[in-house]
Amino acid sequence: MSATIHPLQDQVAIVTGAGRGIGESIARHFVESGARVAVVSRSEENSSKVAAALEAIRPGSARAYAVDVADFDAVQKVGEQIAADFGRADILINNAGITRDNLLMRMSSEEWDAVLDTNLKGAFNFVRSVLRIMIKQRSGRIINISSVSGLMGLAGQTNYAASKAGMIGLTKALAKEVASRGITVNVVAPGFIETDMTAVLNDEIRKGALAQIPLFRFGQPEDIASTVAFLCSPAAGYITGQVLAVDGGMSM
Ligand code: NDP
Repeated sequence: MSATIHPLQDQVAIVTGAGRGIGESIARHFVESGARVAVVSRSEENSSKVAAALEAIRPGSARAYAVDVADFDAVQKVGEQIAADFGRADILINNAGITRDNLLMRMSSEEWDAVLDTNLKGAFNFVRSVLRIMIKQRSGRIINISSVSGLMGLAGQTNYAASKAGMIGLTKALAKEVASRGITVNVVAPGFIETDMTAVLNDEIRKGALAQIPLFRFGQPEDIASTVAFLCSPAAGYITGQVLAVDGGMSM
């Protein structure tokens, strides 16, 4: 009997916001596809819990890191630690994100800054911490997790929509900068996915969202994980600078 060849065998992946929700699902999918994963979240508790669960699937497959992605210096240190622990970095998934919804008329400067600093600057911070390694390797895959909100603009989310649209601009510019080094950079833009982030929304908002989804159901974290894994696989090697909406048709 021949041994199973996994699509991401021996790849090292960094997944931010992997302590819960979509990030946790991406990290699990990667481990099940043969990769080793740096599980990054804000809280030590969540990153350790997920890393322990992944270690139970395959020993040696995961390590936990706790850092605020908005903190440039702290992220550079974590990037160095990950490089020392794993010896390489093949895949970066910028998934950590928050919402602080409010109408712009009422939005505080703190609500604006928290969302931009975490979602957009956090992605910059992590790219900055690992890009040198990918350039040296002359290969790499970077996926930025944006949102339908960044494509369509949703009322009450000017801060969030701006951060998520910003990730698309960052992606396209970076894709052009690093293509010659064998590094691809793409965006996955989820629609309404069932996680802690959407569990706080009331029934009226959920009904309104469902009415806008042609496939007439909410997505699951695995819907995003399988798309991300495809974009990181050898089959997607000729795709860069693209935005792939995984939203049941919501943004078409
Ligand atoms: P969750 O709220 O379920 O999880 C968010 C994760 O991000 C957690 O692991 C959290 O860490 C981490 N995180 C948040 N802030 C920071 C920070 N400052 N530094 C480090 N880690 C941080 O979110 P989802 O899984 O729903 O969302 C994941 C991504 O997908 C986000 O970028 C979100 O904007 C995007 N998205 C989600 C959609 C949805 O419908 N759910 C739709 C479109 C996009 P900890 O666990 O330690 O608290």
